[in-house]
Amino acid sequence: MAADYAEFYRRSIDERDAFWAEQARLIDWQQPPQQICDWSNPPFAKWFVGGTTNLCHNAVDRHLTERPLQNALVAISTETDTERAYTYAELHQEVQRMAASLQTLGVRQGDRVLIYMPMIAEAAFAMLACARIGAIHSVVFGGFASSSLASRIEDAEPTVIVSADAGSRGGKVVPYKPLLDEAIELSAHKPAAVLLVDRGLAPAAMRAGRDHDWAALRARHMDAQVPCIWVDATQPSYTLYTSGTTGKPKGVQRDTGGYTVALASSMRHIFEAQPGDTYFCTSDIGWVVGHSYIIYGPLIAGMTTILYEGLPVRPDAGIWWSIVEKYRVTHMFSAPTAVRVLKKQDPAYLKKYDIRSLKALWLAGEPLDEPTAQWISDALQVPIIDNYWQTETGWPILTLCNGVQKQTSRFGSPGKAVYGYNVQLIDEATGEELTQPNQKGVVAIEGPLPPGCLQTVWRNDDRFVNTYWKSIPGRLVYSTFDWGIRDADGYYFILGRTDDVINVAGHRLGTREIEECIAGHPNVAEVAVVGVADALKGQVAMAFAVPRDASGLTDEAARLKLEGEVMKQVDTQLGAVARPARVLFVTMLPKTRSGKLLRRALQAVAERRDTGDLTTMEDPVALQQIKELLG
Ligand code: ATP
Ligand code: MG
Repeated sequence: MAADYAEFYRRSIDERDAFWAEQARLIDWQQPPQQICDWSNPPFAKWFVGGTTNLCHNAVDRHLTERPLQNALVAISTETDTERAYTYAELHQEVQRMAASLQTLGVRQGDRVLIYMPMIAEAAFAMLACARIGAIHSVVFGGFASSSLASRIEDAEPTVIVSADAGSRGGKVVPYKPLLDEAIELSAHKPAAVLLVDRGLAPAAMRAGRDHDWAALRARHMDAQVPCIWVDATQPSYTLYTSGTTGKPKGVQRDTGGYTVALASSMRHIFEAQPGDTYFCTSDIGWVVGHSYIIYGPLIAGMTTILYEGLPVRPDAGIWWSIVEKYRVTHMFSAPTAVRVLKKQDPAYLKKYDIRSLKALWLAGEPLDEPTAQWISDALQVPIIDNYWQTETGWPILTLCNGVQKQTSRFGSPGKAVYGYNVQLIDEATGEELTQPNQKGVVAIEGPLPPGCLQTVWRNDDRFVNTYWKSIPGRLVYSTFDWGIRDADGYYFILGRTDDVINVAGHRLGTREIEECIAGHPNVAEVAVVGVADALKGQVAMAFAVPRDASGLTDEAARLKLEGEVMKQVDTQLGAVARPARVLFVTMLPKTRSGKLLRRALQAVAERRDTGDLTTMEDPVALQQIKELLG
């Protein structure tokens, strides 16, 4: 008999402890937990109290008996034209070399290690090595400017920083070491040591006494045997910053036991992973998706994981699919923003390779509009599965748990509430739960958050409580700060961030709804809609669109014609209240480094206000262009 997801979900909430006690058996414990969930001090949840485990053991050592010679990690770089595979046995050895090197440099259990690295195998070794010796890693996206890096160094106070001479993007070398030196200079906290992986891409001046060369230390620890340190389930495994889309990034603190269980469980129930399958997640280790689904999740499941350094369109737009063909990738995970990049390329590239090994493509990070989902679905002919979550939660909140019961995607919706998450829609004004279908409200989660979610904001319990748990008057629920709607079958639709709700003459509209409608126009590749203050209507919508084909848009008349078409489309599909006051055509939109639309920056520019914290912004040119357009 096929399992019933509704029943599975119900048990996860109503019989919480029994349910998670079962999930906990998916991982190895040194001491089994004595208490499943300690919720005596809400909103701080402690999972698997009394248990001791190790994340690296579960990701690496556990597989040594059954699959030592299976590839664990394949590092592919189209930047340096290199490919290197590591079996579980080899990964085990490399991680121990890294762990021994970190110990030599003074790292002890509970110490922080900041990892500022490009997408190379050593970055994975460093993360796993930290987990192995009970050190807390803090990965900072490689290539972040020195000021952003400095503030993270100050916050994490790392004993050691692991870095590299350089990253590379689109064939252009990005030296990291000068940025790192500058950041350490700026920071009040100074690390005891820097461990530098020299890729031979850029000259890196080494500071005597502080900076150590990885190749030299590794050579000293070739036969290192560093046993895993069993840590309390509640010991932090890492800290990681949110993307900074809505403001200053928040430092998320994750535990060890809950996270390991949540990932192991998600690999089975969400991804239907089998040992020996191959997972290709195109994210970056600097983001939560990279932590959970490049490194830890696939390895915990005994899969082969692909670590890819490079762009989706270089040497050409077929590169990902050639990797799928070559490595018989079974699971692929990417982001809508990347699909939109592909949408601008010749679709022939998606047909060039044999991708029959692929079971599904999961997408997360931003709303996946229906036209984009349909486009990639038609092109690849594999199930497209949207999933919605946050840095804070560490694993999906909404998606389809096909490993429990097969369900069909509804494009435009990331699916249903994932087991363990008591997801509710809340009326912002009254704080009441909205129980009827098709009511719009804030997506919230009733405590305790399930295993794997943030324990607190790093060194700032007050910020944890006040930011996430106090926004809905009179109720102790976690706010996602996203706005959504649920249909009669339990499928959710994310309508936008709560900050992005537009109020036009008393009508509340999600920016997402308008964007989705505009994205349906055949000549729109990508679009951002923001609410702009308006003396008459309170707010009006303004749209910024990237055309798929700009060749016909050379003069004002052609642009106005397309603008008119887009407006008409909104009129017919959503009604005139939603019609944007302007639709401006640009070559790119301002995004965070993780590829999220920076609507607040667009809005600030459109309202001629200060743009606020832009430290996580990708390319300032995008915003500059819009400033010029608006005059
Ligand atoms: P910050 O919290 O610093 O402002 P951020 O919220 O963008 O940045 P992340 O944790 O990387 O940081 O992103 C989580 C957010 O991304 C979600 O709250 C939601 O707004 C959006 N998101 C993620 N996945 C989806 C999805 N599948 N559909 C719709 N929105 C999504
Ligand atoms: Mg957020």
